[in-house]
Amino acid sequence: MPSKQRKIAMMGYRSVGKSSLIIQFVEGQFVDSYDPTIENTFTKFIRLNSTEYEVKLVDTAGQDEYSIFPLQYSMDFHGYVLVYSITSSKSFQIVQIIYDKLLDMVGKIHVPIVLVGNKTDLHLERKISTEEGKRLAEKWKAAFVETSAKRNESVTDMFHAILSEIERSDGHIPDK
Ligand code: GDP
Ligand code: MG
Repeated sequence: MPSKQRKIAMMGYRSVGKSSLIIQFVEGQFVDSYDPTIENTFTKFIRLNSTEYEVKLVDTAGQDEYSIFPLQYSMDFHGYVLVYSITSSKSFQIVQIIYDKLLDMVGKIHVPIVLVGNKTDLHLERKISTEEGKRLAEKWKAAFVETSAKRNESVTDMFHAILSEIERSDGHIPDK
């Protein structure tokens, strides 16, 4: 059987670890400084529940409260990973702004989303509790994972979670 193609966008405020999560997943390493302005697409083949996937991960340069939701990200994507850092209240606010814009752009039906709280290794600097993250994800009916790209904790789980969310919606790109 040919592999199923899945195209996923990584979105979130700057410096939350979007690139680090992708590079940890695709290359198995933690890079301490990665050019924050690069928009790159990474491809990885993975097998999950006896299905072969070709996963295309589109790393965005990041969004803030003033960003207009990029039109190209509203089309052609199977799912979205919305990342904040557990050390940054601002990044938690931004993820909610991105979500609202995303739903406006994509339309009203269910969009496969995983909410990710990254940097769990920095527990002394934690500003957003696990409960707060969970609650937001429940409100969205999205999956929720806390990760550490640095320690490679739950990084694979998070990418499996988005593939499962997409599977639940049958892998159809949501109608506009
Ligand atoms: P992006 O702008 O969202 O792509 O963020 P980057 O992946 O470039 O990461 C921003 C900074 O946070 C870099 O200095 C990373 O090394 C650091 N970083 C990313 N993930 C983690 C993590 O899980 N733990 C810690 N301690 N630092 C991280
Ligand atoms: Mg980046």
